Amino acid sequence: MSSVRVRFAPSPTGELHVGGARTALFNWLFARKHKGVFILRFEDTDIERNRPELIEPIIESLRWLGLLWDEGPYFQSQRFSLYREWAERLLNEGKAYKCYCTPEELEQKRQRALAAKQKPLYDRRCRALSPQDEEKFMREGRQPALRLKIPESGTIIVNDAIRGQVEFDLAELDDFIILRSDGRPTYNFAVVVDDITMGITHVIRADEHLNNTPKQMLIYQAFGHPVPVFAHVPMVLAKDRSKLSKRHGATAVFEFRDRGILPEALVNYLARLGWSYGDQEIFSREELIEKFSLEAIHPSAAIFDEEKLLWVNQHHLKTSDPKRLGELVRPFLVKLGILSEAEAHAVPSEKLVQMVVLFRERARTLAELAEPARYLFTDNFSHDPEAVQKFLTPEKIPLLEGLAGALAAVEPFTATEIERATRAYLDSQGKTLKEIAQPCRVALTGRTTGAGLFETMELIGRERVIARLRRASLAQQPQASL
Ligand code: GLU
Repeated sequence: MSSVRVRFAPSPTGELHVGGARTALFNWLFARKHKGVFILRFEDTDIERNRPELIEPIIESLRWLGLLWDEGPYFQSQRFSLYREWAERLLNEGKAYKCYCTPEELEQKRQRALAAKQKPLYDRRCRALSPQDEEKFMREGRQPALRLKIPESGTIIVNDAIRGQVEFDLAELDDFIILRSDGRPTYNFAVVVDDITMGITHVIRADEHLNNTPKQMLIYQAFGHPVPVFAHVPMVLAKDRSKLSKRHGATAVFEFRDRGILPEALVNYLARLGWSYGDQEIFSREELIEKFSLEAIHPSAAIFDEEKLLWVNQHHLKTSDPKRLGELVRPFLVKLGILSEAEAHAVPSEKLVQMVVLFRERARTLAELAEPARYLFTDNFSHDPEAVQKFLTPEKIPLLEGLAGALAAVEPFTATEIERATRAYLDSQGKTLKEIAQPCRVALTGRTTGAGLFETMELIGRERVIARLRRASLAQQPQASL
């Protein structure tokens, strides 16, 4: 049994987006690869920014991606007494001290420092208070915060598994607060107490937390606890190299799900976002687990490329079990307004499987894969006017009508039998398939592209095929609905 223990620690301040999902994935892959433990922890101590209603959707997003955790979810908001206990331990050991400065006093000092063009660092006024001073402050009713005593000079080096060595100057840091005067822990303190008590061995998280790491290392030092391995994962940027945001299109996991991206495709794509294994692009979940390593994560920012995600999704659509895809397509029939809930429910699985097999070569999403259902399973589709004009010419109409008659007796109504009957009819008329294939397709589907004609006819079904061929001439009229 390996001792690897990692965690994904979202703050419920937004939905699960590409960047967060990738952090979760890297942690999950690392845990699975090393047969370790993957922990889910919500960092929900920021009262102002917290949105508890987002916790469930974040959990749901992780489930959908298949990134299941072994422990948790833990909630920092339920662990306040632990943080207080741990902070008091440092106080008792002389590694932290009470600071009685009021927010107003601190703000004044801050303003003064800024005016003098200095970094506003705490001046350590309360680090060596006399018992008399302390008594005086207490009499004034001041509630102390706890600050960590840190060395006043020197450097602290983060040995990052992705970024290498990153050096921080201690003179740039101050005796920062670990426990606020109201008893709430500060962010960095809660993270470290959690990471220690949860036995975290590797901290794999977003790059933006690198600046927190020296402070967190000082807290580890104060507790005399070895630091975990840190791995700060570079940002995900949009194509224009700005921070990925809503204006670039979909960024939340659920948006991709709702557009018909497969979870395994999103996982595949996210893994490749900053991590690589030679030039391999397509990975199964098992392969990712086998091949993943922190060392192969690139230290530079990754660029989110939606076209590539669609390409990866297309690949997974082509190779996934058609039966499963059929069921995944079903809700899209409703979402796209093709069928009612009840109608979608009633479509036999075999029909969906047939549709998937016929159309998946061309579809990039489940939504695209569902689209042909409009003409396969309903009559509520429109004819492309250009296609109608080009192919449903007056001399073709009698041929289509004749074909309708020939198909009436085909038994069973399968692609093979339909093809046989069509060819026999065309022979009898001295015509070729080429002459009728496109007109027939336009009459049946309203468009010029699609899957194999005879397979499509089988799926549309005899009645509708015959009706559409018979009424092909009506398609020429504007707005005609067959
Ligand atoms: N709660 C932090 C976030 O959502 C993660 C902190 C960490 O992983 O250490 O960005």
